[in-house]
Amino acid sequence: MMRRLKTRLRGLVPYPSFPVILFLIVSCLSCSRSGSEVKNLILLIGDGMGPQEIGLALSYARYSESPALKDRALALEKLMNEGTTGIALTSPEGFLVTDSAASATQIATGKKSRPGMIGLDRDGNRAESILEKARKSGRSAGLVSDTRITHATPAAFAAHRPSRAMESEIALDILDSGAEVLLSGGLRHWLPGGTDGSALKPAGSVGFPVRSARKDGRNLLEEVRSQGYATVFDRASLKESSSPKLLGLFAASEMPDAITVNRTRSHKERTVPTLAEMTEKALQTLSQNKKGFFLMVEGGQIDYAGHSNDAGRLLHEMLVFNEAADVVYRWARGRSDTLVVVIADHATGGFSFSYSRHNPPPAIRLPGAAFKDKEYSARNNYVNPSVLDRLYAQKKSFENIRREFEALDTALQTPERFMRMFNEAVEFKISLSQAAGILELMDAPPGFMFKKERVYKIPRIRDFPEFYTAAMENRSNLMARAVAPEQGVVWSTGGHTASPVLVTAWGPAKHTRSFGGVHHTTDVYRLMAGALGL
Ligand code: MG
Ligand code: ZN
Repeated sequence: MMRRLKTRLRGLVPYPSFPVILFLIVSCLSCSRSGSEVKNLILLIGDGMGPQEIGLALSYARYSESPALKDRALALEKLMNEGTTGIALTSPEGFLVTDSAASATQIATGKKSRPGMIGLDRDGNRAESILEKARKSGRSAGLVSDTRITHATPAAFAAHRPSRAMESEIALDILDSGAEVLLSGGLRHWLPGGTDGSALKPAGSVGFPVRSARKDGRNLLEEVRSQGYATVFDRASLKESSSPKLLGLFAASEMPDAITVNRTRSHKERTVPTLAEMTEKALQTLSQNKKGFFLMVEGGQIDYAGHSNDAGRLLHEMLVFNEAADVVYRWARGRSDTLVVVIADHATGGFSFSYSRHNPPPAIRLPGAAFKDKEYSARNNYVNPSVLDRLYAQKKSFENIRREFEALDTALQTPERFMRMFNEAVEFKISLSQAAGILELMDAPPGFMFKKERVYKIPRIRDFPEFYTAAMENRSNLMARAVAPEQGVVWSTGGHTASPVLVTAWGPAKHTRSFGGVHHTTDVYRLMAGALGL
């Protein structure tokens, strides 16, 4: 390079002095540095997607009898095979285990944060996010999630509040962030207080029931429209929109769970877009900006499946997230200006397949010489891969079974009725006495609160009840225990675990290389910001 430079310089200046050469080298280096940034960063966050959850999806892709995946290859696997994977600790300030708010804040800002905080550092100061910095650099920005746009993960990229529960205030911050594409659920935080979906007419209408969760009278939809955004509330209008600024809210609260998504995806009358469809529209819209973009896509309900210890739903949630990753992979393939990062904020539930003494497989004859005179026995049940298809066949999430049961008249809420409802929806059947066990209640600890309400009775969790903090929702965790031996599945908690998460970077090697090895999520921010030249 030096020789080539000198040869070129000789043509320009007969006898270049040393300072001139140094100046030219330095300016050349800095010009090449600014030219080596990536234009676009696409960050895929699987909320609650620990290594075991990725393992479940990989196993399904490889070993299922009839995989819902065409070529048995997950986009997540392709990104890992072609990119670089490392691991990241997720701990927030002062603790080993994180919640989604602190973790997303750490990924978004590079600053340590505390559980519950949105976009604030550990001292409670505003921390600028990668989304905000990317917009300052002239790039566009987008947030996509299948929970609510004001939920902790997307919020941490565009809002700064002391509590994740302040979703109506978070909506104001998101509005102010200027992010061009916002696609998710959570319409209830955008309507004037005291109104329902009819408040949208005549400007628009929604096909789902919604009541405002705002306390003030602000109509954020009108405000956002006055800033030049198109607002859409169903799949068809999302598809049709060509607006460069787009707010799409497709549910009052969170969007449908992945079992519902996968079971209704071919319905002609489907009005709710999938995570993949939202991702596709976000890419199409944001990529109009010649200066590039930042996009965060969250598979937000992997975490929900983990909290309720629902393995069938977990598999579906992973596949729905993978479908969005596939849209990103196909969009970015062949480009050299885009960095794709896949990460989780933490793992949830402590899911794993595990061997047990339940139904050990029969002894079999093996052709090999070592077993000429005897049979082979695995002794324990090491979990038959057919479990994967039976998990996929689940018709309803444990949470939906619970909600439907609890919506019945009290007199109808019998163990017989519960057993029937559960066994209709789940391949792994429960007995009447198991149903009765799932419905059993015990006194809540003194002063037990859930979602700001005092709770007196909670489901009788028999193993470490302290780790199940979600009141009546813990019935799902009891369902999981009833089917655990048949599923070959164990869970360790109703909450998050401190498991390190995998982080995969895909794109130009000079930017992905450094993602290998062991990191903290705050380091991951620095690597991403560095790649964007921020
Ligand atoms: Mg989340
Ligand atoms: Zn969670």
